[in-house]
Formats: sequence, C-alpha cells, structure tokens
Amino acid sequence: MAHSTPASDGPERPDGTAYPRARSEAEWREELAPDEYRVLRAGGTEAPFTGAYTDNHDVGVYRCRACRAELFRSDARFDSHCGWPSFFTPLAGDSVILLEDTSLGMMRTEVRCASCGGHLGHVFTGEGYATPTDQRYCINSVSLTFEPT
Ligand SMILES: [Zn+2]
Repeated sequence: MAHSTPASDGPERPDGTAYPRARSEAEWREELAPDEYRVLRAGGTEAPFTGAYTDNHDVGVYRCRACRAELFRSDARFDSHCGWPSFFTPLAGDSVILLEDTSLGMMRTEVRCASCGGHLGHVFTGEGYATPTDQRYCINSVSLTFEPT
C-alpha cells in the first residue's frame, strides 16, 4: 500500500470534512520553501538534530508553518533527546489529526495539522518518559513556526 501523504489525500480530513485552511498543491508549492513542502505536503522527515527548534527552550507558541494555526505550547515541551522537538500533548485535542501510518514497515501514528492537513510528525506512546501523558509528539521543526510570548 502506498504511503498516504497530505498531498495525495487531498483537501479532506479522514472524517470527510474539509480542512478549513486547505489549499491546492500548486498553491502550497508556491507558498512553501522546498524543504517545508517535502515535510508538510510530502510526509518527509527532517534529519535529526538539524531542526531550528530541536533545543529551543524559549516560552511561546508553536504554529503550523503552512497555515499558522496554533499547535503546541512551550510548556508541553520536554527533553526527549531524540533529535526533534518533543511535546507531551498538543495545545488542544482538535488542533491535530492522528492517522495510522504503516510506511517503512512500522506501525506509527502520523500527526497532521487539523487546519490545513500538513504533515507534522508522529506520536509515540508508552516509551516511559516522565511526562503527564507518556506520549511523545515528535514534530519536525520545519513544520513549525515559533512565536515567543
Ligand atoms: Zn496547518
């Protein structure tokens, strides 16, 4: 089965409703830098320990780089030392959409922006991190824009 990507899935959420900030792929290609498009629309992953926010400890809000929706807050960040920004919860349950991802022969849960459908990263559960949820939202820096508060 081909790996599902935001670009191939089109402008609808898994439940059939439209992403409120959906655009055409041509528009996304025009708006996003090539590395942003590769992750947000084509489901790519940035190399570990290379992202702008991997070690960002400033206080503020992380927005979707594609549509600017608020996704995560700095107070939900923790140091996972995995090479990508890690959060134990999104800002609100409905700010992201979770999808089953069986690519690379693994069972993973993909995290997408609920407003535009952009690929953000994956969420892992039960790894034993000392956080309130024992979840690790492993998010690409290139999918985010940080706004200090
Ligand atoms: Zn978005």
